[in-house]
Amino acid sequence: MTLANHQAIVIGAGVAGLSTALYLQRGGIATVVVDPLPPAGGASFGNAGLLSPDTAVPIALPGMLPKVPGWLTDPLGPLSVRPAYFPKAFPWLMEWIKAGRLDRVMAISDAMRALHKDSLQCWQELLGPDLYRDLIRPTGQVQVWEGSADTANAAVEQQVRDRHGIKTEKLTADDLRQMFPGISREVTRGLLVPGNGFTVSPARSVRSLGELFLNEGGQLIHERALKLIPQPSGGWMVMTNIANRFAPHVVVAGGAWSRQLLDPLGVKVALETERGYHAMLFDPEVKPTLPISNKTRAFGVTPMEDGLRVAGTVEIAGLDAPPNEGRAAALVEHARRMFPGLSGAKVRTWMGFRPSTPDSLPILGPVARHPGLHLAFGHGHFGMTGGPPSGRIVAKLILGQTSPIDPKPYAATRFA
Ligand SMILES: Cc1cc2nc3c(=O)[nH]c(=O)nc-3n(C[C@H](O)[C@H](O)[C@H](O)COP(=O)(O)OP(=O)(O)OC[C@H]3O[C@@H](n4cnc5c(N)ncnc54)[C@H](O)[C@@H]3O)c2cc1C
Repeated sequence: MTLANHQAIVIGAGVAGLSTALYLQRGGIATVVVDPLPPAGGASFGNAGLLSPDTAVPIALPGMLPKVPGWLTDPLGPLSVRPAYFPKAFPWLMEWIKAGRLDRVMAISDAMRALHKDSLQCWQELLGPDLYRDLIRPTGQVQVWEGSADTANAAVEQQVRDRHGIKTEKLTADDLRQMFPGISREVTRGLLVPGNGFTVSPARSVRSLGELFLNEGGQLIHERALKLIPQPSGGWMVMTNIANRFAPHVVVAGGAWSRQLLDPLGVKVALETERGYHAMLFDPEVKPTLPISNKTRAFGVTPMEDGLRVAGTVEIAGLDAPPNEGRAAALVEHARRMFPGLSGAKVRTWMGFRPSTPDSLPILGPVARHPGLHLAFGHGHFGMTGGPPSGRIVAKLILGQTSPIDPKPYAATRFA
């Protein structure tokens, strides 16, 4: 059994853990990242790659309660709850519905905006100019709608954008056909959000963070953390499957699995997984130049370096249930309906575990009752956007520096 001393241990090599680790390493704290998987082995591998500084609309919005019966009875709907898992998810779902009250939505949007607005700047800071240019496209994103009816929360979404002075440009059906040749006539209008962007490869972006971390003296250790044990003289022992590792600072950045390490310590956080799917279409007949989010059907397409990624859907079914391939197949059908020229012939499907809180905000910073224990998870639908700025906050707090934004809205104590 290995015994080792470190200055800081980060658990999890996803976008949240590696961003934190790289900021720590650059701040002068020799850091190790512990994960049985290589970088980007979790949700950070297969997400839609949207980087959205100008997105501040939480997932829970007013009027969710009447929709619950539909979630339980339509296994292929945009949001489904597996009936067998419903009792387990019930407390989280209730908090989620409460977070959708209009006054909460506005307060949450303030915290989302504060965190997300520097997302591209943090990616640039972490990757450096060459990799940033290679991987990131700050070219805007487009939302589209079918038919003439507004989606239920269009007015709230506009209110959030107005509140934060987020600029958008309305697009007509003709504009959309010019921008995206081959788009279906069912798509009638759109909105360009020019301040947003995307990455052409979420996996390569996060692996690049891992490579930079190694090149700058960090250590990646392929072990699973099994238990966190506070030490009588201060600091923590991380008991892994093959070692005992000691450090004054431990950061839990284990994505959707983070509660497994925190529950035994009595650290209560409202974390559930919203499982999402992607279908990667290789050699697509159609490749739009910008990501398109179809708000009517709740899915999106992103042009990536290896093809067209169709992603979306939320499935509440926990960490153990097998994937429902029907959900990924439904995404391909949605994409073919939006772009009838797509054959969807060469497809890879994937499921990932979004680490989600009811209020769409991550859980960041120190745990007051446990000196030296820090949290960096819970980014839900927005981890590629929020991961780097969150890493900057958590690292600054560990380094004893001032956080660039008020960290209070993201503290674990909000669930106490
Ligand atoms: C379909 C889909 C589409 C999405 N689209 C977008 C998007 O367009 N834009 C956006 O911003 N976000 C998007 N997201 C969300 C984003 O992918 C996540 O929020 C983000 O990847 C979470 O990063 P993370 O580092 O917290 O978790 P993960 O990437 O899941 O990493 C957690 C890591 O912790 C490790 N781990 C867990 N337990 C332990 C342990 N005990 N010991 C050691 N290691 C452990 C795991 O092995 C894993 O590698 C999407 C997600 C999905 C599923």
